[in-house]
Amino acid sequence: MIGCDCEVCISPDKKDKRLRPSIMVQSKETTIVVDTTPDFRYQMLRENVKKVDAILFTHPHKDHIAGLDDVRAFNFFYNPVMQVYANSLTEEAIKREFSYAFSDKKYPGVPELNLNTIMNDPFMIGDIPVIPVLVWHLKMPVLGFRFGKFTYITDANRIEDSEKEKIKGSEVLVLNALRKQHHISHFTLGEAIDIVQELKVPVSYFTHISHQLGKHAEIEAELPEGIHLAYDGLKIMV
Ligand SMILES: [Zn+2]
Ligand SMILES: [Zn+2]
Repeated sequence: MIGCDCEVCISPDKKDKRLRPSIMVQSKETTIVVDTTPDFRYQMLRENVKKVDAILFTHPHKDHIAGLDDVRAFNFFYNPVMQVYANSLTEEAIKREFSYAFSDKKYPGVPELNLNTIMNDPFMIGDIPVIPVLVWHLKMPVLGFRFGKFTYITDANRIEDSEKEKIKGSEVLVLNALRKQHHISHFTLGEAIDIVQELKVPVSYFTHISHQLGKHAEIEAELPEGIHLAYDGLKIMV
């Protein structure tokens, strides 16, 4: 957190250096990035990512869309038009906040985007099957995504029973857990643990962690078996 000198913000542990939440999902043929955070450019440089086939969005909050302009580097080198998958709420925000990418007379070098509207039905991106999972971020609908045995859910504080069914059977669940204290639109650590245990997912990682949660090593040591804190650069094979 800018300007903060709490024990997490000054911690020398690399796992306490958290950028904004995003994941990359990769098969042999296809690479998808879920959300383009304000840190997207640095995340792509850090991981030396050369190709991205599609961007998938969870919801229109700034910390999940702000980095979209930087897909233009992928337009130059790999993918002349980036495929973007989002629900209509997120599409509206993208068109508003990146209006220059959708104008009739485009300035050269703006990102080239093709918007694909998604709802709550399964679809394919290349060879990767995607099952949207609708969750609630206070009153905002947010899409989580299940890819085979891996499910990613961020920015939720409520999941309806019918959507929970879609998560069951996952081998790995990534779920948001902001901090220990109550928050109006994010699961707390305790609430996230309850969901993982209710859904009986064997391995879980918590993400979208605030500096208010505490130091990685200390919280990790408190968690039940099979539940971990995610950290930047974590790679999971499913
Ligand atoms: Zn949000
Ligand atoms: Zn967020």
